[in-house]
Amino acid sequence: MLKVLDSAVPIACWSCSIGHNDSTLFCPHCSKIQPPPGGDYFSVFGLTPQLNLDLPALEAEFHRLSRKVHPDRFARAGENEREWSLADTALLNDAYRTLKEPIYRTEYLLKLVGEEIGEEHSGKDRKGQKDPSRVPADLLEEVFELNMQLEEMRMGRKMGENDPALQADLEQAKTKFEGLLAAVDQDLRTEWQTWDAGGDDARLSAQKTMVGLLDRRRYLSNLVRDVTETLGA
Ligand SMILES: [Zn+2]
Repeated sequence: MLKVLDSAVPIACWSCSIGHNDSTLFCPHCSKIQPPPGGDYFSVFGLTPQLNLDLPALEAEFHRLSRKVHPDRFARAGENEREWSLADTALLNDAYRTLKEPIYRTEYLLKLVGEEIGEEHSGKDRKGQKDPSRVPADLLEEVFELNMQLEEMRMGRKMGENDPALQADLEQAKTKFEGLLAAVDQDLRTEWQTWDAGGDDARLSAQKTMVGLLDRRRYLSNLVRDVTETLGA
């Protein structure tokens, strides 16, 4: 587990020897480039972990830091500084790619605080979720019917048949599941507010809810992808 609260481990600058916060790319005293910091992606941008981000500000900071660590600027520097400019650039790119995208950002923060998320964990028997097939309980019936329709569509296609009624049903189902996906995103944003507002209990509860929402989202995304592929075949 990555550290969240204690990312400010003071270390000595390699150049001026003055201690500074571990999360900085440049020494605040002598301005020399530093090795890739050991904090989290948020700290790279001088932020604390949070789910609502000012994206234009994040982008501006990304461009500002990218220019500062750009390897071209270190072409004549020592070997260490040249290496660090490459490593810092890679770190900056990874951090920006992850934080700018809402779902990646949510997943990253949840992992940071120790939640188990992702495909490899979603089959686990989580509290209140006993169905190992992972179909969200409220969707069991619809998913069952959808899978039958998808199978029928695929079989029909193989036989060279065209069933406009079935096609329309599937398109309708696709629209419905896309709507459910949008609702999950809305629910996630509500949990962002709760988590960002703070308080240990509120955060813990929001985290558990978000883990469940991400499972549901993953399931719905796969479903929509299957229908889209079958319709487009
Ligand atoms: Zn320094």
